[in-house]
Amino acid sequence: MYIDIPVGRSDLGGWDMGTTALTPRRRPLVADQPRPKPEPMLQLRNIHHGYELGGRTLPVLRGVDVDVRPGEIVAIVGRSGSGKSTLMHLAGGLASPDQGDVRLGGQALSAMGPRARAVARRRQVGFVFQAFHLLPGLDVIENVAMPLLLNGESRHRAQDRARPILDAVGLSERARHLPSELSGGELQRAAIARALVADPSLVLADEPTGNLDSTTAEEIIDLLVSRVRGAGL
Ligand code: ADP
Ligand code: MG
Repeated sequence: MYIDIPVGRSDLGGWDMGTTALTPRRRPLVADQPRPKPEPMLQLRNIHHGYELGGRTLPVLRGVDVDVRPGEIVAIVGRSGSGKSTLMHLAGGLASPDQGDVRLGGQALSAMGPRARAVARRRQVGFVFQAFHLLPGLDVIENVAMPLLLNGESRHRAQDRARPILDAVGLSERARHLPSELSGGELQRAAIARALVADPSLVLADEPTGNLDSTTAEEIIDLLVSRVRGAGL
């Protein structure tokens, strides 16, 4: 599937979160193909979510619908505080919406408890957190290999699989460094490598180029796009 994604623009389309609460704006990034569309990998339906603050609820998402099909790359854009991270956490099963349905690979995440959601996420989703969340006591390659260990692979095999990904994000030389010894851009790339290592069917990346200079940002976007294409989707 041909994907045309403009790099380095804030108006990529997808869902415009520039309003007070998130409302969907349909402008797909991917050129429609003549063949029938595959089932969505991720489906959000009528998602409502808010946060309790001082006895009151701050509404953040009000009736959001999102479909992401295999091979699609979707950008969620909007100003700070509009609910982008909230939406991604719900999409990846890190939290459950106040209302609405989240389906991941055909499974209803919103009907599961936290433990079952964690299993579904581990099998299918690579998450790049805005704040990275690398484990401070582990070096870079151990962090990147962690999703494979959690999926039951041996330490040796997990690190063998982590190496080419570290290479792809330009971090081979930092494999044995601790997160505290890395720059912001290096932490970002380590977090991206960890999200990609287990060949997830969905990558959720929260501002994955926020800490990178524009050249490195383009390289990282190219890497993410080529992984989607390389997966034969
Ligand atoms: P974005 O990622 O678009 O910057 P967020 O999803 O992080 O936005 O936040 C959306 C809104 O929800 C913001 O106003 C933020 O302050 C609020 N918010 C996010 N997380 C929490 C939380 N855990 N408790 C209370 N309010 C929160
Ligand atoms: Mg955010």
